[in-house]
Amino acid sequence: MTSPLVIPIFIPHSGCPHQCAFCNQSIITSRKKCLPAREEIDEIIGQYLGYRAHRSRVELAFFGGTFLGLADQDIVGLLERIRPYIEDHTIHAIRCSTRPDTITEQKLDLIAPYGVSLVELGVQSMADVVLERANRGHTCFDTCQAIDLLKAYKLKVGVQVMVGLPGDTRDQLLASTRQVADLAPDVARIYPLMVLRGSLLAQWYRDGSYSPLGLDQSVGLVKEMVKIFEQANVKVIRMGLQASEMMEDKTQVLAGPWHPAFGHLVLSALVYDQVCEKLENFQDSPENRGRHILLSVHSRFESRLRGDKNSNLTKLTKAYPGIVFSIQTNDSLPPGRVDIQKSATRV
Ligand code: SF4
Repeated sequence: MTSPLVIPIFIPHSGCPHQCAFCNQSIITSRKKCLPAREEIDEIIGQYLGYRAHRSRVELAFFGGTFLGLADQDIVGLLERIRPYIEDHTIHAIRCSTRPDTITEQKLDLIAPYGVSLVELGVQSMADVVLERANRGHTCFDTCQAIDLLKAYKLKVGVQVMVGLPGDTRDQLLASTRQVADLAPDVARIYPLMVLRGSLLAQWYRDGSYSPLGLDQSVGLVKEMVKIFEQANVKVIRMGLQASEMMEDKTQVLAGPWHPAFGHLVLSALVYDQVCEKLENFQDSPENRGRHILLSVHSRFESRLRGDKNSNLTKLTKAYPGIVFSIQTNDSLPPGRVDIQKSATRV
């Protein structure tokens, strides 16, 4: 099924009780803090509907702040602005992102009449010690309770988790990911932590008490998290922050594992693992040394198999000395699968 057109409406920092240590939403969303007026919302909707193309489903998402942390009249005010679009079926559903500690029966009753279908929770981590250090102001228990309540209200649940939080470790991160996956959310987003100007994290970075992850390290960790989510049937719908001019501005984003196609790097790393797994036996047989290996993949997945600037081929050549790898496309293969064959010569 084609993914829906999602119209984002940003409400940076609105509804947040304080500023989390890593956050500066004005940079991420390229917007100043304030709720959008009716005319602005109409304009954004009109603009995005122009990009609809063949997509039959349209959803609107309130991102960038704590939607259910807003005052009741502001929540209702924003939802009322969308109501005419829901009633005439221009927009089919609403999503919102919010903190786990804002999920209460009262808030869910408040939004019930307005067509909200998915609530995304800023979970970030399930380790209380990490949450405390990041000044989140909520606990792992809040997340468990919030997901239970959202499910009781038959709402779909999204989770947003972070990689590279201060004080986190690889083991803790993967244990936390397993804990989140066990709660069976519908979708997940994974964000590597960036050091943003104006955040508390920027101070820690400057005084040397926080060092961001490197890009490769970050890709490796997110790859393991994706495997955990996939095993639990949780769809990962985003890895890495959306590219924008602001994110490329070194005066705004001071450090961190930034890459405009971060998700592609992770997907390429997953394909590399798949190929290595299949090649494991091959590498063990000395008679296969010096042979040519042909990797076949659906044409839509060729760039993923090659990796960024052919990095997967370079890594394979280093990992399997004496073997020459070639790639060919074969659209009869199921998307995502890589077939391996011996070949008499380089293709
Ligand atoms: S991370 Fe989320 S909850 Fe924390 S200040 Fe930023 S928008 Fe608000």
